[in-house]
Amino acid sequence: MQLEQRHYDVSIVGGGMAGGSLALELQQLGLSVVLLEKFQQNTPVTSSPEQVIALSWGTVQHLKKLNVWKDIEQLGVSVLRDVHVSQATRRASVELLHDEEGVDSLGFVVQNQFVVQALYKNLAGKVDIICPAEVVAMSDTGAGKRLLVQTSDTQFEIESSLVVGADGTYSQIRHMAGILSQGWDHNRFALVASVIPENPHRHVAYECFRADGPLAFLPLDSERFSIVWTLKPSDATRMQQASEMVFLSRLNMVMGEPLKEKIGRISASSKTRLFPLELRVSKQYSTPHLALVGNAARTLHPMAGQGMNISMRDVADLSACVQAGLNQNQQAGDARVLAAYAAGRKKDQRRTVALTEGLNLLFNHKNPALHCLNQGGLRLLSHLSFLRHQVSKQAAGLV
Ligand SMILES: Cc1cc2nc3c(=O)[nH]c(=O)nc-3n(C[C@H](O)[C@H](O)[C@H](O)COP(=O)(O)OP(=O)(O)OC[C@H]3O[C@@H](n4cnc5c(N)ncnc54)[C@H](O)[C@@H]3O)c2cc1C
Repeated sequence: MQLEQRHYDVSIVGGGMAGGSLALELQQLGLSVVLLEKFQQNTPVTSSPEQVIALSWGTVQHLKKLNVWKDIEQLGVSVLRDVHVSQATRRASVELLHDEEGVDSLGFVVQNQFVVQALYKNLAGKVDIICPAEVVAMSDTGAGKRLLVQTSDTQFEIESSLVVGADGTYSQIRHMAGILSQGWDHNRFALVASVIPENPHRHVAYECFRADGPLAFLPLDSERFSIVWTLKPSDATRMQQASEMVFLSRLNMVMGEPLKEKIGRISASSKTRLFPLELRVSKQYSTPHLALVGNAARTLHPMAGQGMNISMRDVADLSACVQAGLNQNQQAGDARVLAAYAAGRKKDQRRTVALTEGLNLLFNHKNPALHCLNQGGLRLLSHLSFLRHQVSKQAAGLV
């Protein structure tokens, strides 16, 4: 039986924050775009705990340009004015301040589902969204790629000049394209929960470095923080299974005095959720007629809050390269377009991976030499405004 064939300029596989933003951006260039997503996305859900993300000033500017920020704001955002960095066992601390960077805020804290909901609202009627759907096979046509797509009740083929893998850390498209990835398991879990502190957060985020990894508090709404607590796998499981009383007593104990002086004791917590932490970096950003964006291109430790922010820079760069190609009558999947994209992403990727993994090594290592260095590092950061600016700028997406 002959399968139905559909044709688009671009097929994007994975309709999360990276895939959704790219679809919006490319359709605004006048391209026909299809978005294939494995799970039902556009259904408002209330999750406990809320999964939140700190978006840098740079990412927010980009979402404003795409015209979706107003919808995200309507669903609910929390301003992230300053960041306070400390160590659980030492007095040294550093403040990254928005006014030192000449911006109104270092960023915003938003629920992931609000970003996705706002993107889907803006994609409606402009991009074909096929969901739930999965790619069963991928082949070359010479002029592009052919995808064999499976939905709940049918199979069909899609041909396009460019396929984009935006399908997350364990990208199936990356695997089908034969692109290898490298990295390591951090042997840690991020435990996420929403908590109520004694004192108001005043829109300050707190990151406390501990021997097992960082414990971050992100201002969520008027009275709550969302926490990301890095734990060894066995401790993470124990904390997830603990009663609220045991959980709170452990959290209040490990957060350290400098942080407790700022926000007071934590008095209540939501349910918890665990995420395994790893570094995974794809060896290539593109192959003929195919590109990777977002977590499919690289997955970072969340400690520096850079994963989504670098993903948005992938989206902006790929769309700029496609636009430049269209101006020269080149198709979206033209080899020159994809070579420019891959070359352009290398520097940002190197810098962001180095920042995230460097901080992780400096603050979490048990090696005594590195322990001395991290104490010195925090002091150095507090006294050298140039260094502090560099970290703040990277956090705010200003570099
Ligand atoms: C605890 C935690 C805290 C974080 N905090 C921050 C932060 O503060 N700031 C920041 O910038 N980043 C943060 N991140 C990272 C950020 O969440 C990710 O970088 C971002 O979600 C990547 O978006 P994505 O669209 O590339 O991938 P995903 O969000 O993983 O989306 C991938 C999409 O593809 C779909 N999919 C998967 N497989 C298939 C398939 N075979 N076919 C079709 N569709 C498929 C999935 O259903 C999903 O919708 C954090 C991450 C964690 C775990």
